[in-house]
Amino acid sequence: MNTKTFNFFNGRRWSQVWLPRPLLAALSKLRTAQKRLSRCEQGSKNRKKARSRVAHICQRVTDLRTDFLQKLSTQLIHKNQVIMVETPGTKNLLKNRRLARAISDAGFGEFVGMLEYQCKWPGRTLVKVARFFPSSKLCCICHQKNIDLKLQDRWTCSSCHTEHQRDENAVVNIFVEGLRILAEGRSVLACGGTVGPKREFRRGPGKQETSSEVCGHAA
Ligand SMILES: [Zn+2]
Repeated sequence: MNTKTFNFFNGRRWSQVWLPRPLLAALSKLRTAQKRLSRCEQGSKNRKKARSRVAHICQRVTDLRTDFLQKLSTQLIHKNQVIMVETPGTKNLLKNRRLARAISDAGFGEFVGMLEYQCKWPGRTLVKVARFFPSSKLCCICHQKNIDLKLQDRWTCSSCHTEHQRDENAVVNIFVEGLRILAEGRSVLACGGTVGPKREFRRGPGKQETSSEVCGHAA
């Protein structure tokens, strides 16, 4: 699982956004503050101070993450009319103790929530690709499923011998699957709202260009 980047594909180009990981950055500060808190005497003034220090650090971590995700999701919604997103089962992934911190620091669940909320904008559609869709394991050229695929970054398809970059291959697969879902007309969440409202069409031809972007979090 890639917890360092969000991966995007707009039908032509693949791109990555590095995540800020605020918890990782604040971890040593937080540890010191929590140690100090645990050593303070119950009910003392110093304990109160230490507690508010811990709370302050936690709040700052949350604020940094929320700020980043909100800016990114707003930018995506402004630029695109259709957004396809992979929804990995974050709750299940959090059971993995080695990855839990990095996954919650990335805030992917929150990010999908923000996209859902912002897709209530007129003319925006969010397509969620099911969590069991094997985005990483499918070869995007020949659609052969490579079941034995481990967590390596690069791999070669056993059927068509194409060399794949893991994340790039996954986002292309999510994009294609998203288009299929869109064509079938199912699972296009109510988020789409009213597609093509009058106000949108008055703006002139420049704004009507359909564009879509896919955001994958290769699992
Ligand atoms: Zn292949």
